[in-house]
Amino acid sequence: MTVTAPLAPRTDTDAATVEFRGLRRQFGATTALDGLDLTVAPGELLALLGPSGCGKTTALRMLAGFEQPDSGAVLVDGADITHVPAHRRDAGMVFQSYSLFPHLDCLDNVAFGLRMRKVAKAARKAQAAELLDLVGLGDKGGRYPHQLSGGQQQRVALARALALRPRVLLLDEPLSALDAKVRLSLREEIRRIQRELGITTLFVTHDQEEALSMADRVAVMRAGRLEQCAPPAELYGRPATAFVAEFVGTMSRIPGDLDGSTVEVLGLRLPVDGEAPASGPVDVLVRPEDVRVSTDGACSARVVATAFLGATTRLTVRLADTTEVKADLATHEAAAFAAGDAVTVTLRERPVLVAERRP
Ligand code: ATP
Repeated sequence: MTVTAPLAPRTDTDAATVEFRGLRRQFGATTALDGLDLTVAPGELLALLGPSGCGKTTALRMLAGFEQPDSGAVLVDGADITHVPAHRRDAGMVFQSYSLFPHLDCLDNVAFGLRMRKVAKAARKAQAAELLDLVGLGDKGGRYPHQLSGGQQQRVALARALALRPRVLLLDEPLSALDAKVRLSLREEIRRIQRELGITTLFVTHDQEEALSMADRVAVMRAGRLEQCAPPAELYGRPATAFVAEFVGTMSRIPGDLDGSTVEVLGLRLPVDGEAPASGPVDVLVRPEDVRVSTDGACSARVVATAFLGATTRLTVRLADTTEVKADLATHEAAAFAAGDAVTVTLRERPVLVAERRP
């Protein structure tokens, strides 16, 4: 393989398409993947999101070649690589733990793979220095990992993963060991670099905010299968299933009465969005920003808690029937309410998702 200058931008035609086709994997009695179908477009950053144990890491490891499916296939640019060994796949990987070589300085950590590929010393040092620049650590080449913060170590790990100009970049919870502020800045940094290089990227996370803020599309997994794959705004605004709706963002359930394509809830009749169960008693799923709280009308609900979130404040309101509903208000409006206040709850009139009534 020829190693080209690491920072030359990729063209659209150069970036890889990745396909998972019907991937299945069983570990004893546990089904880790249950027929996963997913395509990652060239140059796309796709986040795999889902609850613990839904198979995200297993899917990523199959693309890296660390794990074999029982059936199904992994394709890159249409070629079946399911049985190609890991070291012959063109993937760069960054893990949750920094996993740098402790006895090598940053420059040598980044240059390591190039050394393995017999790139001449001067060329690999130059390329490694360029990559350290790219991740904002151009002046830290001589430092050893223990002399760096966690965020800096993860930047070095990213530079190392990119050094061989991989066709796909695999990120397995790369930010989860970092504190909140560093995590935010590295999110932006990874996104910037990924865009600059135009490299097809698969990002595993269980942090929905991370997935929504970084990815071109988010694939929500559930029990080894794909539940929905869509751009962040669509996933949040038009979730395809109750599972996605409740996993992504906050949802409250309010009892309603479904009649065909409309549902009666809190005295309103609203159109139903997406799949609906049979007519009758259902739960209506509502986002906190779609809930209105006022002191008009009967005031049969009660504020049970308020949580200051900065620009907004989240009220928890208990309805007459003990249902609890979250409502986000601008903080200056929320100042009028305190725990214990009697209030009226109503909803923004827009199509809603409904789910089978939970006992
Ligand atoms: P998390 O967010 O907790 O990392 P995940 O979605 O990445 O979870 P996986 O790590 O892919 O989930 O695991 C899926 C399921 O397969 C889990 O129930 C896990 O315990 C099981 N599993 C994964 N690898 C193995 C293994 N090598 N041996 C046995 N069981 C495994």
